[in-house]
Amino acid sequence: MAEANTHYYATRDPLGAAGDFTTAPEISQMFGELIGLWCADLWQRAARPPVHYAELGPGRGTLAADALRTMHGAGLDPPVELVETSPVLRTVQAQRLPGAHWHDAVATLPEDRPLLVVANEFFDALPIHQHIGPERRERMVAYADGRFLPDPIGGEDVRETSPASLAIVAALARRIAAQGGAALILDYGAEQGASGDTLQAVSRHAFADPWAEPGSRDLTAFVDFQALAEAARAEGVDIFGPRGQGPWLETMGIDLRAATLAKASPGRAAEVGAARDRLVQPEQMGRLFKAMALVAPGWPVPAGFA
Ligand code: SAH
Repeated sequence: MAEANTHYYATRDPLGAAGDFTTAPEISQMFGELIGLWCADLWQRAARPPVHYAELGPGRGTLAADALRTMHGAGLDPPVELVETSPVLRTVQAQRLPGAHWHDAVATLPEDRPLLVVANEFFDALPIHQHIGPERRERMVAYADGRFLPDPIGGEDVRETSPASLAIVAALARRIAAQGGAALILDYGAEQGASGDTLQAVSRHAFADPWAEPGSRDLTAFVDFQALAEAARAEGVDIFGPRGQGPWLETMGIDLRAATLAKASPGRAAEVGAARDRLVQPEQMGRLFKAMALVAPGWPVPAGFA
């Protein structure tokens, strides 16, 4: 899964109508703006210290551009640190975010200031392991006659783990606990506990066979927010959420922002309303997608979680 996704992201920009899938920041500027507001609000209530803005898997840089514009309006213009492994997407990000710095991993993020970190649809792309049945036998995959052959599940219970995700969230939490700041993680995942086999592939905006054409389709799995929260808490940060993306965006003021945008360009009012619904409605992205925050001890309670 790791190799397939590394190849997949290294060789294309998969986002948007012409690509394979669309993410929240590509649906509407409101998403990144409200995340920028979340960062600026926390920073103001923390008495405006110098900080770095960091993002994990920033895609086209759209979220960061929208968030930084909003932060600028609040008097916050932090240096921009991007954790991104894809050379193709780094090039796209450089056009949107002049002056940014790139990193292969959390380990090289600067250590001199508190960090405000955002990760949207990053953890779902990290590799998982599956364990089958009461003995928790690891599901293995064979390769024969030009195709992948996964162990059959045969109606047994499947548990998933993502050691790569836990290592990254622990490294991030350790930094935040030591340096100050917070991280906002947005992704899709179940409410609690085991949810079975959630590995999926998406190609051209449709579900595809995850075992076919490795490296040419996006492989993702549900993010286990409880496991991320436990791993982060063990490193000394406070956890807020997970909470549904819909209620989180509503608390952050998406309806007011949508009304303002619609008033400013009446010709786009229907489009703005449709984007708002796509991000917020429970049967669309509002319930399956969730927001969770990691906050350094002594930092303020983050917006959107109460
Ligand atoms: N956050 C963006 C893009 C999501 S797609 C958005 O919401 O639109 C996943 C992103 O994570 C891409 O930028 C991809 O190149 C990056 N990525 C995937 N695996 C990674 C890894 N192991 N390390 C760093 N970046 C990774």
